[in-house]
Amino acid sequence: MKIHEYQGKELLKRYGVAVPRGFACFSVDEAVKAAEALGGPVWVVKAQIHAGGRGKGGGVKLARSVDEVRQRAGEILGMQLITHQTSPQGQKVRRLLVEEGADIKKELYIGLVVDRVTQRVTMMASSEGGMDIEEVAEHTPEKIHKVAVDPVVGLTDADADSLSRKIGIPEASLAQSRPILKGLYQAFWDTDASLAEINPLILTGDGRVIALDAKLNFDSNALFRHPELVALRDLDEEDPAEIEASRFDLAYIQLDGNIGCLVNGAGLAMATMDTIKLFGGEPANFLDVGGGATTDKVTEAFKIMLRNPELKAILVNIFGGIMKCDTIAEGVIAASKAVGLKVPLVVRMKGTNEDLGKKMLAESGLPIISADTMAEAAQKVVAAAAAA
Ligand code: GDP
Ligand code: MN
Repeated sequence: MKIHEYQGKELLKRYGVAVPRGFACFSVDEAVKAAEALGGPVWVVKAQIHAGGRGKGGGVKLARSVDEVRQRAGEILGMQLITHQTSPQGQKVRRLLVEEGADIKKELYIGLVVDRVTQRVTMMASSEGGMDIEEVAEHTPEKIHKVAVDPVVGLTDADADSLSRKIGIPEASLAQSRPILKGLYQAFWDTDASLAEINPLILTGDGRVIALDAKLNFDSNALFRHPELVALRDLDEEDPAEIEASRFDLAYIQLDGNIGCLVNGAGLAMATMDTIKLFGGEPANFLDVGGGATTDKVTEAFKIMLRNPELKAILVNIFGGIMKCDTIAEGVIAASKAVGLKVPLVVRMKGTNEDLGKKMLAESGLPIISADTMAEAAQKVVAAAAAA
């Protein structure tokens, strides 16, 4: 789950991270009031969307008078902001952050991820902030410094200072960067984050260290223990199909292809997508209906998949263990009838109540193509999508 920059900054502030003073605004009037409350001489008006690259896309503007704040806020609110992280149509801006302007001397980068190789939370820091860190990692990897944090002791003062020095923070400012690095780590740890980034972390003309941007992603599987984070969710920023799926506790991820996949179990779902690709097809989604899916849940899963206008064919691949094949068959039949299925449907079922499930599908009167092996199912669905 993602949150907005202003929410991230509020959270990090509680962990002792220095951030500019600012207010979230939902209208031009609120932006003007915020600017007046902050006082000048320089303000920054920032689009709040769940994507980075806003600066380059025209979603971050400086203003040198309250009138200019009004003008910039009017331009940015409601715009379709296109960045390299949004879809080509961009994302509509519904919220702003109006902040006091900072005097930037140097833009730096700090970030945290879980490194699967070391199995540790790893802090990365670079002197090359403000830009795409992926570019830095590709072209000048020596400019990214890392510390794999020992979970027992956390990020130490020594870790923090060593990273700070490597990215060019002067000795006199170490006392300022230290609580920022440590606060970011503690916030990451406490919130079960999967990603935390401050890009840019800035050094000001008078030697202060401030977080000018904040990006936090949280592990959805841990949200049950963070109701305060769930409250920050902004559904306007999420894919409608994925929201619908989460309401029914389905793991659904929209992809770019045209073959819908309905599978039970994440591993089988991944294998199904791989097999489709092996035979030249492109999956339209990842969809795991889980182990204990009911007919209702399968019906909803079917409906969500069918909303996708790109969909050309569907492959249902079920291993009946806890999940019974007749339950899936019932869901598939009910959903096909409810939505008036028009795309070819290939079904492969194995396991518990397989014969009953197959019989139900055969007797349903629906034009279902059945398959016995994964390879056969994938080949049939790729051919059906190509012909459609
Ligand atoms: P992103 O492009 O979505 O990552 O948005 P950021 O919050 O990182 O802002 C993009 C860029 O805007 C930053 O790298 C800065 O160069 C610039 N910027 C943001 N806030 C200020 C500010 O207070 N003063 C100045 N001069 N520039 C700013
Ligand atoms: Mn940024």
